[in-house]
Amino acid sequence: FYKLCENNNYVKKEAIANNVEFSGTSSKGHGLEITINLSKPEKDPKAIAAAAHATGKKYPQCALCLENEGYLGGYGKNARSNLRIIRMNIGGRPWGFQYSPYAYFNEHCIFLDQKHIPMVINQQTLINLVEIEKTLPHYFVGSNADLPIVGGSMLAHEHYQGGRHTFPMMKAKIKKNVVFDDYPEVVAGIVDWPMSDLRLISDNSLDLIELGAKIINFWDHYSDSARQIKAFDGKTRHHTVTPIMHREGKNFVLDLVLRDNNTSENYPLGIFHPHKELWHIKKENIGLIEVMGRAILPGRLKSELEEVKKYWLGQDNKMAISHKEWADQIKAEQNITAENVDAVMQQALVEVFEQVLQDAGVFKNNADGDEGWDKFITALTRQI
Ligand SMILES: [Zn+2]
Repeated sequence: FYKLCENNNYVKKEAIANNVEFSGTSSKGHGLEITINLSKPEKDPKAIAAAAHATGKKYPQCALCLENEGYLGGYGKNARSNLRIIRMNIGGRPWGFQYSPYAYFNEHCIFLDQKHIPMVINQQTLINLVEIEKTLPHYFVGSNADLPIVGGSMLAHEHYQGGRHTFPMMKAKIKKNVVFDDYPEVVAGIVDWPMSDLRLISDNSLDLIELGAKIINFWDHYSDSARQIKAFDGKTRHHTVTPIMHREGKNFVLDLVLRDNNTSENYPLGIFHPHKELWHIKKENIGLIEVMGRAILPGRLKSELEEVKKYWLGQDNKMAISHKEWADQIKAEQNITAENVDAVMQQALVEVFEQVLQDAGVFKNNADGDEGWDKFITALTRQI
Protein backbone atom coordinates (compact mmCIF):
# COMPACT_ATOMS: atom_id res chain seq x y z
CA PHE A 1 0.00 0.00 0.00
CA TYR A 2 2.86 2.39 0.77
CA LYS A 3 4.46 1.56 -2.58
CA LEU A 4 1.15 2.32 -4.31
CA CYS A 5 0.93 5.72 -2.56
CA GLU A 6 4.48 6.53 -3.65
CA ASN A 7 3.90 5.35 -7.20
CA ASN A 8 0.75 7.45 -7.63
CA ASN A 9 2.67 10.43 -6.20
CA TYR A 10 0.39 10.94 -3.19
CA VAL A 11 3.48 10.52 -1.02
CA LYS A 12 5.67 13.18 -2.60
CA LYS A 13 8.95 11.31 -2.68
CA GLU A 14 10.85 13.84 -4.79
CA ALA A 15 9.86 16.85 -2.68
CA ILE A 16 10.71 14.90 0.48
CA ALA A 17 14.18 14.12 -0.88
CA ASN A 18 14.94 17.88 -0.79
CA ASN A 19 14.35 18.08 2.96
CA VAL A 20 17.34 18.66 5.24
CA GLU A 21 17.88 15.87 7.77
CA PHE A 22 20.57 15.06 10.34
CA SER A 23 20.92 13.88 13.93
CA GLY A 24 23.12 14.85 16.87
CA THR A 25 23.48 14.82 20.63
CA SER A 26 22.71 17.89 22.76
CA SER A 27 25.01 19.13 25.53
CA LYS A 28 22.48 17.57 27.95
CA GLY A 29 23.18 14.16 26.40
CA HIS A 30 19.89 13.71 24.54
CA GLY A 31 19.97 12.25 21.05
CA LEU A 32 17.88 14.43 18.70
CA GLU A 33 16.93 14.52 15.02
CA ILE A 34 16.56 17.73 13.01
CA THR A 35 14.62 18.06 9.77
CA ILE A 36 13.87 21.13 7.70
CA ASN A 37 10.66 20.37 5.87
CA LEU A 38 10.30 22.12 2.52
CA SER A 39 6.87 20.75 1.63
CA LYS A 40 4.87 21.89 4.65
CA PRO A 41 3.66 25.44 5.39
CA GLU A 42 4.51 26.99 8.78
CA LYS A 43 1.37 27.50 10.88
CA ASP A 44 0.61 30.13 13.49
CA PRO A 45 -0.45 28.69 16.90
CA LYS A 46 -3.23 31.31 17.26
CA ALA A 47 -4.72 30.31 13.89
CA ILE A 48 -4.72 26.63 14.92
CA ALA A 49 -6.66 27.45 18.11
CA ALA A 50 -9.20 29.47 16.09
CA ALA A 51 -9.67 26.65 13.56
CA ALA A 52 -10.47 24.20 16.37
CA HIS A 53 -13.68 26.15 17.05
CA ALA A 54 -14.64 26.85 13.45
CA THR A 55 -18.03 25.38 12.55
CA GLY A 56 -20.26 25.72 9.52
CA LYS A 57 -20.68 23.46 6.53
CA LYS A 58 -17.81 22.90 4.16
CA TYR A 59 -16.92 20.17 1.70
CA PRO A 60 -14.78 18.40 2.63
CA GLN A 61 -15.28 19.54 6.23
CA CYS A 62 -11.50 19.38 6.85
CA ALA A 63 -8.29 18.09 5.24
CA LEU A 64 -8.60 14.78 7.12
CA CYS A 65 -12.23 13.93 6.28
CA LEU A 66 -12.91 10.70 4.42
CA GLU A 67 -14.50 12.52 1.46
CA ASN A 68 -11.04 13.87 0.52
CA GLU A 69 -10.38 10.46 -1.03
CA GLY A 70 -10.37 11.07 -4.78
CA TYR A 71 -11.51 14.69 -4.37
CA LEU A 72 -10.66 16.78 -7.43
CA GLY A 73 -10.21 20.00 -5.45
CA GLY A 74 -11.03 23.58 -6.38
CA TYR A 75 -11.62 27.04 -4.85
CA GLY A 76 -8.71 26.92 -2.45
CA LYS A 77 -9.13 23.22 -1.60
CA ASN A 78 -6.27 20.88 -2.40
CA ALA A 79 -6.87 18.12 -4.92
CA ARG A 80 -6.68 14.66 -3.37
CA SER A 81 -7.54 12.68 -6.47
CA ASN A 82 -4.77 10.14 -5.86
CA LEU A 83 -5.44 9.75 -2.11
CA ARG A 84 -6.53 6.23 -1.11
CA ILE A 85 -7.72 5.20 2.36
CA ILE A 86 -7.93 1.68 3.80
CA ARG A 87 -11.00 1.08 5.97
CA MET A 88 -10.36 -0.56 9.33
CA ASN A 89 -12.17 -1.00 12.63
CA ILE A 90 -10.54 0.48 15.72
CA GLY A 91 -12.17 0.16 19.12
CA GLY A 92 -15.43 -0.97 17.55
CA ARG A 93 -15.73 2.10 15.34
CA PRO A 94 -15.11 2.58 11.61
CA TRP A 95 -11.75 4.29 10.97
CA GLY A 96 -9.49 4.90 7.98
CA PHE A 97 -5.77 4.39 7.38
CA GLN A 98 -3.74 6.48 4.94
CA TYR A 99 -0.19 7.69 4.39
CA SER A 100 0.85 11.30 4.92
CA PRO A 101 1.88 13.18 1.77
CA TYR A 102 4.51 15.17 3.73
CA ALA A 103 6.20 12.09 5.23
CA TYR A 104 8.11 13.49 8.21
CA PHE A 105 9.74 10.02 8.46
CA ASN A 106 9.55 6.57 6.88
CA GLU A 107 5.99 5.28 6.17
CA HIS A 108 4.40 8.20 8.05
CA CYS A 109 0.74 7.23 8.31
CA ILE A 110 -2.50 8.67 9.67
CA PHE A 111 -5.37 6.83 11.35
CA LEU A 112 -8.59 8.83 11.13
CA ASP A 113 -12.08 8.42 12.51
CA GLN A 114 -14.54 8.13 9.62
CA LYS A 115 -16.65 10.78 11.35
CA HIS A 116 -15.58 14.44 11.66
CA ILE A 117 -15.52 14.50 15.47
CA PRO A 118 -13.09 16.40 17.75
CA MET A 119 -9.93 14.88 19.19
CA VAL A 120 -10.18 13.50 22.71
CA ILE A 121 -7.68 11.73 24.98
CA ASN A 122 -9.14 9.20 27.42
CA GLN A 123 -9.21 5.48 28.20
CA GLN A 124 -10.68 4.74 24.75
CA THR A 125 -7.59 6.36 23.17
CA LEU A 126 -5.36 3.84 24.93
CA ILE A 127 -7.64 0.94 23.90
CA ASN A 128 -7.37 2.16 20.30
CA LEU A 129 -3.59 2.51 20.42
CA VAL A 130 -3.26 -1.07 21.75
CA GLU A 131 -5.53 -2.37 18.98
CA ILE A 132 -3.45 -0.62 16.34
CA GLU A 133 -0.24 -2.00 17.89
CA LYS A 134 -1.70 -5.51 17.75
CA THR A 135 -2.50 -5.04 14.05
CA LEU A 136 0.70 -3.18 13.09
CA PRO A 137 3.34 -4.13 15.68
CA HIS A 138 6.17 -2.82 13.46
CA TYR A 139 4.71 0.72 13.54
CA PHE A 140 4.59 3.16 16.45
CA VAL A 141 1.29 5.03 16.96
CA GLY A 142 0.50 8.16 18.94
CA SER A 143 -2.04 10.90 19.34
CA ASN A 144 -1.49 14.59 19.53
CA ALA A 145 -2.82 16.25 22.68
CA ASP A 146 -6.47 17.31 22.55
CA LEU A 147 -5.92 20.98 23.53
CA PRO A 148 -4.58 23.98 21.58
CA ILE A 149 -0.95 25.15 22.12
CA VAL A 150 0.23 21.71 23.25
CA GLY A 151 -1.67 19.81 20.57
CA GLY A 152 -1.41 19.28 16.86
CA SER A 153 -2.84 21.41 14.09
CA MET A 154 -6.01 19.41 13.40
CA LEU A 155 -7.98 19.33 16.66
CA ALA A 156 -11.40 19.19 14.97
CA HIS A 157 -10.97 15.67 13.54
CA GLU A 158 -10.06 12.64 15.67
CA HIS A 159 -6.90 11.02 14.32
CA TYR A 160 -3.57 9.44 15.26
CA GLN A 161 -0.18 9.30 13.55
CA GLY A 162 2.12 6.34 13.14
CA GLY A 163 4.88 4.86 11.04
CA ARG A 164 8.02 2.81 10.74
CA HIS A 165 10.64 4.86 12.59
CA THR A 166 12.43 4.52 15.93
CA PHE A 167 12.47 7.98 17.48
CA PRO A 168 15.13 9.28 19.90
CA MET A 169 12.63 9.29 22.80
CA MET A 170 11.97 5.58 22.29
CA LYS A 171 15.70 4.94 22.76
CA ALA A 172 15.91 7.12 25.90
CA LYS A 173 16.15 5.15 29.16
CA ILE A 174 14.09 5.29 32.34
CA LYS A 175 16.05 7.43 34.83
CA LYS A 176 13.85 6.72 37.85
CA ASN A 177 11.54 3.75 38.39
CA VAL A 178 8.02 4.17 39.76
CA VAL A 179 6.17 1.32 41.46
CA PHE A 180 2.38 0.99 41.29
CA ASP A 181 1.49 -1.66 43.91
CA ASP A 182 -1.75 -2.76 42.23
CA TYR A 183 -0.04 -3.23 38.86
CA PRO A 184 2.91 -5.56 39.45
CA GLU A 185 3.02 -6.57 35.78
CA VAL A 186 3.67 -2.98 34.65
CA VAL A 187 7.22 -1.59 34.70
CA ALA A 188 7.00 2.19 35.06
CA GLY A 189 9.38 5.11 35.32
CA ILE A 190 10.38 8.67 34.47
CA VAL A 191 12.29 8.84 31.19
CA ASP A 192 15.58 10.73 30.78
CA TRP A 193 14.13 13.23 28.32
CA PRO A 194 13.80 17.03 27.99
CA MET A 195 10.01 16.78 28.10
CA SER A 196 8.10 15.20 30.99
CA ASP A 197 7.59 11.57 30.03
CA LEU A 198 6.18 8.83 32.27
CA ARG A 199 6.68 5.41 30.63
CA LEU A 200 4.67 2.22 31.21
CA ILE A 201 5.89 -1.15 29.86
CA SER A 202 3.95 -4.42 29.99
CA ASP A 203 2.78 -7.40 27.95
CA ASN A 204 -0.49 -7.16 29.89
CA SER A 205 -2.27 -4.62 27.67
CA LEU A 206 -5.37 -4.47 29.91
CA ASP A 207 -3.32 -3.42 32.94
CA LEU A 208 -1.44 -0.92 30.78
CA ILE A 209 -4.70 0.66 29.56
CA GLU A 210 -6.25 0.79 33.04
CA LEU A 211 -3.19 2.27 34.74
CA GLY A 212 -2.53 4.66 31.86
CA ALA A 213 -6.11 5.99 32.01
CA LYS A 214 -5.82 6.54 35.77
CA ILE A 215 -2.58 8.50 35.30
CA ILE A 216 -4.12 10.66 32.57
CA ASN A 217 -7.13 11.40 34.79
CA PHE A 218 -4.90 12.22 37.76
CA TRP A 219 -2.72 14.58 35.70
CA ASP A 220 -5.85 16.26 34.28
CA HIS A 221 -6.67 17.42 37.83
CA TYR A 222 -3.15 17.97 39.21
CA SER A 223 -1.81 21.47 39.98
CA ASP A 224 1.55 22.68 41.32
CA SER A 225 1.38 26.44 41.72
CA ALA A 226 5.10 26.78 42.53
CA ARG A 227 5.81 25.61 38.96
CA GLN A 228 2.93 27.48 37.25
CA ILE A 229 1.24 24.11 36.62
CA LYS A 230 -2.51 24.65 36.78
CA ALA A 231 -5.14 22.07 35.81
CA PHE A 232 -8.21 24.30 35.53
CA ASP A 233 -9.39 27.90 35.25
CA GLY A 234 -13.03 27.58 36.30
CA LYS A 235 -14.31 24.93 33.92
CA THR A 236 -11.54 25.41 31.36
CA ARG A 237 -9.21 22.40 31.34
CA HIS A 238 -5.49 23.03 30.79
CA HIS A 239 -4.02 19.54 31.20
CA THR A 240 -3.74 16.62 28.85
CA VAL A 241 -1.09 14.19 27.62
CA THR A 242 0.59 13.25 24.37
CA PRO A 243 0.25 9.43 24.41
CA ILE A 244 2.57 7.36 22.20
CA MET A 245 2.83 3.58 21.94
CA HIS A 246 5.25 1.15 20.35
CA ARG A 247 6.18 -2.52 20.70
CA GLU A 248 9.34 -4.10 22.05
CA GLY A 249 8.95 -7.81 21.47
CA LYS A 250 5.82 -8.92 23.29
CA ASN A 251 5.74 -5.77 25.41
CA PHE A 252 3.64 -2.68 24.80
CA VAL A 253 5.53 0.52 25.64
CA LEU A 254 3.32 3.51 26.44
CA ASP A 255 4.89 6.96 26.81
CA LEU A 256 2.61 9.51 28.50
CA VAL A 257 4.07 12.98 28.01
CA LEU A 258 2.50 15.46 30.42
CA ARG A 259 1.23 18.71 28.85
CA ASP A 260 -0.07 22.01 30.23
CA ASN A 261 -1.43 24.70 27.88
CA ASN A 262 -1.56 27.70 30.24
CA THR A 263 -0.48 31.13 29.03
CA SER A 264 0.70 34.12 31.04
CA GLU A 265 1.53 37.77 30.43
CA ASN A 266 5.18 36.83 29.91
CA TYR A 267 4.34 33.82 27.74
CA PRO A 268 1.26 34.70 25.66
CA LEU A 269 1.72 31.70 23.31
CA GLY A 270 2.16 29.27 26.20
CA ILE A 271 4.21 28.89 29.39
CA PHE A 272 5.17 25.34 28.29
CA HIS A 273 5.79 26.24 24.64
CA PRO A 274 9.01 27.36 22.91
CA HIS A 275 9.88 30.73 24.44
CA LYS A 276 10.27 33.94 22.45
CA GLU A 277 14.06 33.81 22.02
CA LEU A 278 13.64 30.54 20.06
CA TRP A 279 10.87 31.73 17.68
CA HIS A 280 13.37 32.67 14.97
CA ILE A 281 13.87 28.90 14.62
CA LYS A 282 10.69 27.38 16.06
CA LYS A 283 7.39 29.07 16.94
CA GLU A 284 4.88 26.33 16.16
CA ASN A 285 3.14 23.92 18.53
CA ILE A 286 5.19 20.96 19.73
CA GLY A 287 3.24 17.96 18.46
CA LEU A 288 3.88 14.28 19.00
CA ILE A 289 6.62 13.88 16.36
CA GLU A 290 8.70 16.63 17.96
CA VAL A 291 7.88 15.40 21.46
CA MET A 292 9.72 12.22 20.42
CA GLY A 293 12.83 14.19 19.46
CA ARG A 294 12.45 14.80 15.73
CA ALA A 295 12.32 18.52 14.91
CA ILE A 296 10.14 19.60 11.98
CA LEU A 297 11.59 23.01 11.22
CA PRO A 298 10.05 25.42 8.68
CA GLY A 299 11.33 25.41 5.07
CA ARG A 300 12.31 29.11 5.22
CA LEU A 301 15.28 28.11 7.40
CA LYS A 302 17.07 26.34 4.57
CA SER A 303 17.97 29.64 2.88
CA GLU A 304 17.98 31.75 6.07
CA LEU A 305 20.63 29.58 7.72
CA GLU A 306 22.87 29.81 4.64
CA GLU A 307 22.94 33.57 5.27
CA VAL A 308 23.83 32.99 8.94
CA LYS A 309 26.76 30.83 7.83
CA LYS A 310 27.98 33.61 5.51
CA TYR A 311 27.70 36.06 8.41
CA TRP A 312 29.81 33.76 10.60
CA LEU A 313 32.47 33.55 7.90
CA GLY A 314 32.54 37.32 7.41
CA GLN A 315 31.12 37.15 3.88
CA ASP A 316 28.48 39.38 2.29
CA ASN A 317 25.11 38.21 3.56
CA LYS A 318 21.41 38.97 3.96
CA MET A 319 21.01 37.45 7.42
CA ALA A 320 17.58 38.15 8.95
CA ILE A 321 17.83 40.41 11.99
CA SER A 322 15.83 37.82 13.98
CA HIS A 323 18.84 35.45 13.91
CA LYS A 324 21.47 38.04 14.91
CA GLU A 325 21.52 37.68 18.69
CA TRP A 326 21.71 33.89 18.45
CA ALA A 327 24.35 34.01 15.69
CA ASP A 328 26.50 36.46 17.67
CA GLN A 329 26.35 34.30 20.79
CA ILE A 330 27.57 31.22 18.90
CA LYS A 331 30.23 33.23 17.07
CA ALA A 332 31.59 34.54 20.39
CA GLU A 333 31.93 31.00 21.78
CA GLN A 334 34.07 29.42 19.07
CA ASN A 335 36.32 29.88 16.08
CA ILE A 336 34.15 29.27 13.01
CA THR A 337 35.92 28.38 9.77
CA ALA A 338 34.86 27.21 6.31
CA GLU A 339 35.79 23.69 7.43
CA ASN A 340 33.64 23.52 10.56
CA VAL A 341 30.79 25.91 9.72
CA ASP A 342 28.34 23.15 8.78
CA ALA A 343 29.09 21.16 11.91
CA VAL A 344 28.73 24.30 14.06
CA MET A 345 25.34 25.04 12.48
CA GLN A 346 24.10 21.47 13.00
CA GLN A 347 25.13 21.46 16.65
CA ALA A 348 23.58 24.92 17.18
CA LEU A 349 20.24 23.64 15.83
CA VAL A 350 20.42 20.56 18.06
CA GLU A 351 20.94 22.85 21.09
CA VAL A 352 18.01 25.08 20.06
CA PHE A 353 15.76 22.03 19.71
CA GLU A 354 16.87 20.71 23.12
CA GLN A 355 15.82 24.09 24.57
CA VAL A 356 12.51 24.00 22.63
CA LEU A 357 11.67 20.67 24.27
CA GLN A 358 12.87 21.87 27.70
CA ASP A 359 10.51 24.85 27.40
CA ALA A 360 7.62 22.51 26.59
CA GLY A 361 8.35 20.21 29.55
CA VAL A 362 6.29 20.78 32.71
CA PHE A 363 9.00 19.40 35.06
CA LYS A 364 12.36 20.82 33.99
CA ASN A 365 15.63 18.86 33.78
CA ASN A 366 17.05 20.39 36.96
CA ALA A 367 16.80 20.05 40.74
CA ASP A 368 13.52 21.97 40.85
CA GLY A 369 12.06 19.75 38.13
CA ASP A 370 13.13 16.61 40.02
CA GLU A 371 11.39 17.97 43.11
CA GLY A 372 8.26 18.60 41.03
CA TRP A 373 8.35 15.02 39.70
CA ASP A 374 8.77 13.61 43.24
CA LYS A 375 5.80 15.59 44.51
CA PHE A 376 3.65 14.48 41.56
CA ILE A 377 4.67 10.80 41.77
CA THR A 378 4.08 10.70 45.54
CA ALA A 379 0.56 12.09 45.13
CA LEU A 380 -0.11 9.83 42.13
CA THR A 381 1.01 6.56 43.77
CA ARG A 382 -0.95 7.40 46.91
CA GLN A 383 -4.12 7.74 44.82
CA ILE A 384 -3.66 4.70 42.52
ZN1 LIG B 1 -12.72 16.17 9.18
